[in-house]
Amino acid sequence: PKVLVTGANGYIAMWIVRLLLEKGYAVRGAVRSEEKVAALTDAFGKVHSEWSDRLEWAVVPDITKDGAFDESVKGVEAIVHTAAPLDTTTDDPDEYIKPSVNGTLSLLTSALKHGSGVKRVAITSSCTAAVTFKTPQAEPGPLPFRETGWAEEAIETVKKDGAKTPDSIKYRAAKTLAERAAFDFVEKNKDKLSWDISTLLPSVVIGPNLGAPKSPEVLNASLNRFYRSLFTNEPEEFLKSTICSVDVRDVAQAHLSSLVKEAAGGQRFLVSGHATTWQRIRDVAYDINHVWYSDEILPRGNPDLPRDIVYFFDNNKSRDVLGIEYESLEKTVGDTMADFEGRG
Ligand code: NDP
Repeated sequence: PKVLVTGANGYIAMWIVRLLLEKGYAVRGAVRSEEKVAALTDAFGKVHSEWSDRLEWAVVPDITKDGAFDESVKGVEAIVHTAAPLDTTTDDPDEYIKPSVNGTLSLLTSALKHGSGVKRVAITSSCTAAVTFKTPQAEPGPLPFRETGWAEEAIETVKKDGAKTPDSIKYRAAKTLAERAAFDFVEKNKDKLSWDISTLLPSVVIGPNLGAPKSPEVLNASLNRFYRSLFTNEPEEFLKSTICSVDVRDVAQAHLSSLVKEAAGGQRFLVSGHATTWQRIRDVAYDINHVWYSDEILPRGNPDLPRDIVYFFDNNKSRDVLGIEYESLEKTVGDTMADFEGRG
């Protein structure tokens, strides 16, 4: 079976492509330009020459255009949609919202019209799309976020504050609107569809990077944030704060499982392996006794800080339905740092 993966050059998508190839699937990776095809051919085809005949590329310069994916969806049995902006160059909320919402809708419309072989579409949303404070907390302890939550407040804030909205809230609104648009599309067209959707909502994704940036500073948004948080002297308020993260390899597995598990159809899944604090991540890095450790390079922080977490993403559904067995924080942090080291 062949799977279309959009945004195939992205951090998460490259792991999805690799996992699909390892498991024997054929992959059509959609990217925005020919240069990206060249980089990916180097990363996959040349390194694993045995994969070359199961791997092909499609160039889709503007995913928001009507019919953008009309050709790409032909002959595939499943689709993984990861392409979406994580940051932008202007303050305009539409810079996040338009590519996220219209990109998703144009893909689904192409799949409806031309994807007669498609059975399942997996869409990468974000844990932030489930962050709502409208449901009062019933249990004592850290605040749980679950698949039942939708980030309505983010959408309202963008409507009210426009360009003044913090970028993280614009992003959250865009992911929520795109995910909701996908479920609405399926509801509206359910009599005509040969496929259904699953959405995956990862927390902060870390783990080794298959791309080829020359230095750790040139990384996707989540790895960059992780890198800066570890290698910068941060105030204790920050070090005490909660961070929910997940190994990129678990995120790839969740996407694959959501394509093949019948019960995943029509469902959203939070995908989050660890709920911890930034200081605890420093402690793990210290315990691994990584060669980069020194007060100048990898600041120790304060190991005596309280380790209470304020919130977490409930991952039970991803374990039960998708069968995800999450990597430990130690393994994920260790492998991420080893990868940084490999990049100098
Ligand atoms: P990357 O930045 O590595 O990948 C993003 C991908 O989306 C790239 O292929 C990029 O293409 C493409 N893209 C970005 N903007 C546009 C646009 N306007 N039109 C078309 N394509 C676009 O990030 P990730 O791999 O981390 O992100 C992949 C997905 O995972 C996104 O949907 C993101 O929201 C989601 N996600 C990520 C999390 C994380 O912690 N990393 C957490 C939760 C969700 P190009 O290279 O051409 O710009």
